[in-house]
Amino acid sequence: MIAAEDFNITKVKQSKLEGISLDNVPFGKYFTDHMLEVDYENGEWQTPSIKPYQPLSLAPSLAALHYGQAIFEGIKAYKDADGNASIFRPYDNFKRFNSSAERMEMPVVPEEIFIEGMRQLIEIEKDWIPAKPNHSLYIRPFMFSSDEAIGVRPSDKYKFLIILSPTGPYYAAPMRIYVEEKYVRAVQGGYGYAKAAGNYGGSLHASAIAQKQGYDQVLWMDAFEHKYVQECGTMNAFFIIDNKVITPGLEDGTILAGVTRDSTIEILKEMGYIVEERKLSIEEIMDAYKAGTLNEIFGTGTAATISLIKELKYKDFIMTFDVDKWTIAPEIKTRMDAIKYGEAPDNHQWMMAV
Ligand SMILES: *Cc1c(COP(=O)(O)O)cnc(C)c1O
Repeated sequence: MIAAEDFNITKVKQSKLEGISLDNVPFGKYFTDHMLEVDYENGEWQTPSIKPYQPLSLAPSLAALHYGQAIFEGIKAYKDADGNASIFRPYDNFKRFNSSAERMEMPVVPEEIFIEGMRQLIEIEKDWIPAKPNHSLYIRPFMFSSDEAIGVRPSDKYKFLIILSPTGPYYAAPMRIYVEEKYVRAVQGGYGYAKAAGNYGGSLHASAIAQKQGYDQVLWMDAFEHKYVQECGTMNAFFIIDNKVITPGLEDGTILAGVTRDSTIEILKEMGYIVEERKLSIEEIMDAYKAGTLNEIFGTGTAATISLIKELKYKDFIMTFDVDKWTIAPEIKTRMDAIKYGEAPDNHQWMMAV
């Protein structure tokens, strides 16, 4: 068992923060002064180090680079008006990280490394959390296999790290999306539910084709019939039809169980909506559109919270929406932001103080 006081901590002599303004910083561009690094060797996790953010020295034969045993998480920390820092639902990401680890045949990371390591790192980097509305500190935990040998098998060695990136308002312009009919993201029995690196590498080609055609992203469909919707790019998808909310269910293992998805469902229930987690066919969506009962469509994820969808194309059929008239999706974001920035009571106990 690793105790919090056992961490090896080496601090930078001078913070990089002096030269950087945290107003409107772009997503994922700047990293804070320190990172957490822990090695897994001889069947156990070694003592965690918090040290200056720096390049890793890795062998060309590094297993992760060849066979893709690599997983990650995305979490955010916020500052309230009094300057208190807290993290949004980190235990949910911790559980999901270890479920990804098990699917990829990697060792699970104990709570005293994942949660306590994150807390200690952020405590050191508190000044990097912008104290402004719509700003936050993005937290990126990740793990990869680090055996220096070629051969398809689980590694004996792994590295777990956490890096932090301050981020400004993520303006999510309403999106144009088309229903992807050729490429698939996830299949029953596959690993679509895991935040594993390969899922993202494998999705880029379809996204690039969509973007060449003037669309922002694709709506993925099920791999067997191309009939049921899955996710929108790297966001969970929500459809409001006749004032009932429908989002694809998790039972097939093809949907990433988003923390924002779960929070959205909770908030919608509080707002009095019925939420159905189930299979939803593209036919049902088109029928609702034709009947005038397709109220709102949006994606959810940590980066943007809620992204509205203003156009959805399936084959030659184009569905367009006047998103300025929507009220439900914007209300979800308002309510979730109020909890994150400490402006509304945290009745769900979603916030963990740093
Ligand atoms: C990370 C991710 C999401 C969103 O999950 P959050 O926990 O809400 O950030 C949705 N779909 C995919 C494929 C993802 O990778």
